[in-house]
Amino acid sequence: MQFSSSLLENAVNEFARFPGIGKKTALRMVLHLLKQDESITENFSETIARMRRDIKFCQRCNNVSDADICSICANSLRNQSLICVVENLRDVIAIENTQQFSGTYHILGGVISPLDGIGPDQLQIESLVQRIQKEQTEELIFALSPNIQGDTTIYYIQKKIKDFNCRITTIARGIAFGGDLEYADELTLGRSLQNRMPVDKYISH
Ligand SMILES: [Zn+2]
Repeated sequence: MQFSSSLLENAVNEFARFPGIGKKTALRMVLHLLKQDESITENFSETIARMRRDIKFCQRCNNVSDADICSICANSLRNQSLICVVENLRDVIAIENTQQFSGTYHILGGVISPLDGIGPDQLQIESLVQRIQKEQTEELIFALSPNIQGDTTIYYIQKKIKDFNCRITTIARGIAFGGDLEYADELTLGRSLQNRMPVDKYISH
């Protein structure tokens, strides 16, 4: 792609960094911005820069937050002794969209995957174990993607907390094994949460 302006070329290259965005789409976005009022592009770049600079991660559950503790953890109307364990932020958003869950979350930041070099230490597992102990959590629900890595992670965490007085469940498998949690439709995901089952029953299957 040939450009008559290096300023334009640089901007196109920045947009082309996004996953799934090729140079043609990047060019379309840049040309769109070029047609807008200058104040709109200034606001756009300032919003992105501020998001990156000021965003925080909740000290309790690792969710993104504007404050040290996120709005879910700070909400006294939610059941604070119920923790739903998920891989990432997109899973929190997917479960929140079902409006079927009123507990809290714990974002692991991934799942155990030795082939990808991800062990328990790279994940927020120790902070979860400490949190359950400290808060005397009543129930832990695993909502991890149904695949080998998800199961390995459940097994690992279950072993670490088996002596705590905490009920351990996992969402029902309305979701196909090997599927991705974030792609499940809201109805399936909501039902999976309602029909959760004890994790020892799940592991032995
Ligand atoms: Zn939180």
